[in-house]
Amino acid sequence: MATMPARANLSIKKDSSMASHKLFLLPGDGIGPEVMGEVKKLIAWFNARGIASFEVEEGLVGGAAYDAHGEAISDADMDRAQASDAVIFGAVGGPKWDGVPYDKRPEAGLLRLRKDMVLYANLRPAIVYPALADASSLKRELVEGLDILILRELTGGVYFGQPKEITDLGNGQKRAVDTQVYDSYEIDRIARVAFELARTRRNQVCSMEKHNVMKSGVLWKEVVIETHKKGFEDVELSHMLADAGGMQLVRNPKQFDVIVTDNLFGDILSDVAAMLTGSLGMLPSASLGAADEKTGRRKALYEPVHGSAPDIAGKGLANPIAMIASFAMALKYSFALGNWADKVDTAIAATLAKNLRTGDIMQPGMTQVGTGEMGDAVIAELEAAA
Ligand code: NAD
Repeated sequence: MATMPARANLSIKKDSSMASHKLFLLPGDGIGPEVMGEVKKLIAWFNARGIASFEVEEGLVGGAAYDAHGEAISDADMDRAQASDAVIFGAVGGPKWDGVPYDKRPEAGLLRLRKDMVLYANLRPAIVYPALADASSLKRELVEGLDILILRELTGGVYFGQPKEITDLGNGQKRAVDTQVYDSYEIDRIARVAFELARTRRNQVCSMEKHNVMKSGVLWKEVVIETHKKGFEDVELSHMLADAGGMQLVRNPKQFDVIVTDNLFGDILSDVAAMLTGSLGMLPSASLGAADEKTGRRKALYEPVHGSAPDIAGKGLANPIAMIASFAMALKYSFALGNWADKVDTAIAATLAKNLRTGDIMQPGMTQVGTGEMGDAVIAELEAAA
C-alpha cells in the first residue's frame, strides 16, 4: 500500500478546538425528535467538557414544517441551513402527511436541502461492531471488523438526466426514457472526495461503473484515472464493474476500503452494504458539498439512514445509535475532531459489548433498553474513556 501523505484530513482547516461551530438541527417527524434528543445530550456534553463550542439552532422540516408553514421546509430555515457549519437531520414522513400535495410532501424538505446546498457526495459507512456481527445476514467471519465506505454521487446521473418521460407511441405502446448523464467535472469532484477520504482511512479506492456497456461508464473510468494522476497517486486505485462489485460486496466485503460510484449504482450498492451490518437503526450517513475556498469547510448534512419509523414513534423505543454515529461523522468531516469521532464510535462499541440493546437489535440474553437509556449509556462510556 502507498504511504500516507502529511495531509490526511478530508475536510478543513485545523480548528482550534474551542472555535465556535454552528449546528443547525432539523429533528423532523416520528422518531426524528426522539433520536435527536440523544444528540442534544451529546452536544451538551462536548460543550460542558470544553472540547468544542457548539452553537445550536433548531428548525422544522418534513411534516412538522408542513403543519407549521404549509411547506416541507421554510425559506427561513433553508437560509439557516445554508449559514450553518453542519446540518444535523433526523427523519421525515409518516402516514399523517400521505395526502399532502406531491411538492410539499415531507421528503421534499430533504430533497431541497440536498439540491440547494449542492450536496453531491453521499458517504455511507458500513461498520460491523463486534457485538453485532451475528446480526448480519452473512457469516460472522465475513463481516466481523468490517469497516468500508460507499461514496455515492448524489446530484447527477439517471435520476436527474433529461429527457425523463413516458411517451405514448400511438400504437397501443408507450415508451419510458430516463437519461444517464455525467459531465466530466461531476466525476472529477466526486473522485477527489474519494481520494481525500481514502487518505483518512486505509488509502484504497475502488471505482465502480459499467464501462463495458455504458458510455457514461467509459467516461467515468477515464476521468477517475485522470483525477488520480493529479496529485492522488499515493492512493491505491482499482476499478470494478458495478455488477461484479455487488457480488464481491457479498462474497468478501472486507477487501474494500472506499468504493466510489454513480448515483444509481451507489443507491443499490450502499443498500447491499447496509445489510451487511444488520440493522437500520445503526447506520449513519453524511452528504457533503463543495469546499469553501477560504476555510476549506464543505457544506454538510448528517443524517441516519433510517426513516421516521411511525410504528414505534413516541414510545421511547427507537435506537439512537445511527443518529449519534451521524453526529460523530460531523465531528470528523466538518470539525476536524476525528479523534473524538473515533471515541464516540468506541463508546458505541463498548455500550453494545455490555449487552445493552434497543428492540431492533435485541438478541436472547441481552438487556433491552429504550432510546434515552441507550444514549445515556454511550455518553457514560465516552465519559469513562475521556
Ligand atoms: P423506516 O426506516 O422509518 O422504518 C423501517 C423499519 O425499521 C420500521 O419497522 C422501524 O420501526 C424500524 N426502524 C427504523 N429506524 C429505527 C430505529 N432508529 N430504531 C428502531 N427501529 C427502527 O422506513 P419506512 O417504514 O419505510 O418509512 C417510514 C416513514 O419514513 C415514511 O414516511 C418514509 O417516507 C419515511 N422515510 C424517511 C427517510 C428520511 O427521512 N431520510 C428515509 C426513509 C423513509
